[in-house]
Amino acid sequence: MGGDLPELIGVDLAQATIDRVDKMYLDFGADDKVEGVGNRDAVADIRRRAIKAGLKLVDCPIRHLGTEKAQEIYLAIERHLLDAGVEILFEHEVKEVLIEDRRCSGVVVAGRDGEVVVHAAETVVATGRRGADWFDRMCDEHGIDHEPGPVDLGVRVEVRNEVMETVNNVLYESKLIGYPNPYKNKVRTFCQNPGGFVSQENYDGGLAVVNGHSYKDRKSPNTNLAVLCSLNFKEPFSQPILYAQRVGELMNMLGAGHILVQRFGDLRDGKRTWPKELDRSNVRPTLPDAAAGDISAAMPYRAMTEIVNFMVAVDEVVPGFASEETLLYAPELKFYSNRVKMDETLETSIAHLHCLGDSSGWTRGLMMSSVMGLLMGERLAGE
Ligand SMILES: Cc1cc2nc3c(=O)[nH]c(=O)nc-3n(C[C@H](O)[C@H](O)[C@H](O)COP(=O)(O)OP(=O)(O)OC[C@H]3O[C@@H](n4cnc5c(N)ncnc54)[C@H](O)[C@@H]3O)c2cc1C
Repeated sequence: MGGDLPELIGVDLAQATIDRVDKMYLDFGADDKVEGVGNRDAVADIRRRAIKAGLKLVDCPIRHLGTEKAQEIYLAIERHLLDAGVEILFEHEVKEVLIEDRRCSGVVVAGRDGEVVVHAAETVVATGRRGADWFDRMCDEHGIDHEPGPVDLGVRVEVRNEVMETVNNVLYESKLIGYPNPYKNKVRTFCQNPGGFVSQENYDGGLAVVNGHSYKDRKSPNTNLAVLCSLNFKEPFSQPILYAQRVGELMNMLGAGHILVQRFGDLRDGKRTWPKELDRSNVRPTLPDAAAGDISAAMPYRAMTEIVNFMVAVDEVVPGFASEETLLYAPELKFYSNRVKMDETLETSIAHLHCLGDSSGWTRGLMMSSVMGLLMGERLAGE
């Protein structure tokens, strides 16, 4: 779940490492409750409706960390590393990877006191989605083998918990996949947050994108989730990250720097949403400073059409999902479309250079990026 790592390292190693990482999360304080297991009859009923709607249901066990608890868990991991003698430089930005004769010898890092060269026998880049664009450039400049992957463009949907109740209780997260007419690109639900909050994520250069999260204890009356459409660009244009950024910038421009929000009914009626109209609904936006407007004025026609058709199909599984008042926030973009070529030992085409997690394009979530981190750490430690 969350990327294609099993393709790179093999299904058995991926599953065995997931089990070990999961145990580590438990040791560092994760909740021992696992969501989405049991309830076979209820899952079968949801799947039956998904099949009728032409959608695939992917059900898998989920351990919900919770936004606030995740911070505690990662702080505990950080302290453990510091106690073990790991040196961590905060507020430093990696500017360059040093590559000569197809060998990496370290990085150039910029901090408050200027730039420093860090020489290293092995260099591991793990700069996440924020650094995916930067590493894409490094790949082009230094001839690190990579290829463009699909880019995910979409909206964040928000409905009342009552609408998602069955799916939330039975599965916690409904992973539904479809290939809607007329273009048949892959469209899917992603990152579902029962009782959660819609949030804003800011990238370098001022790009604001929408996201969502859910706390362990503090709950809202709403559920949010992403609906993402995967698009491919290879020839003659091969910069999917740039494409998504430009769409995002256009959305931000229309929202005067804010995330745009629109009611699904207005989108289908071909009209913008006005702020006063948001007050007429049962669902109240959990991102209060989102600007009411018209998403279709900036979303490419292909993606918009497929998102609408997909949501209508999901409505057959979750009645009320595609109702008039359902809120759509945009831009929801996922920047992991630079797929770095690596062997199963996680080495790039440049000797002594490795790339992990979301910036490698192989992962899309906490578990799989943690799996890569653990395998890499053990390899470097010679275990
Ligand atoms: C709001 C939100 C909710 C999410 N919810 C979930 C969820 O429920 N479940 C799930 O599995 N995943 C979730 N994710 C995704 C998850 O956080 C990522 O998939 C995961 O953190 C990827 O790990 P990573 O180590 O590859 O990158 P990251 O955790 O993103 O870490 C990369 C770090 O590198 C830093 N960086 C970037 N460029 C540079 C540079 N040039 N120099 C130095 N540092 C740099 C970044 O600032 C960042 O701190 C969520 C993400 C967001 C934003």
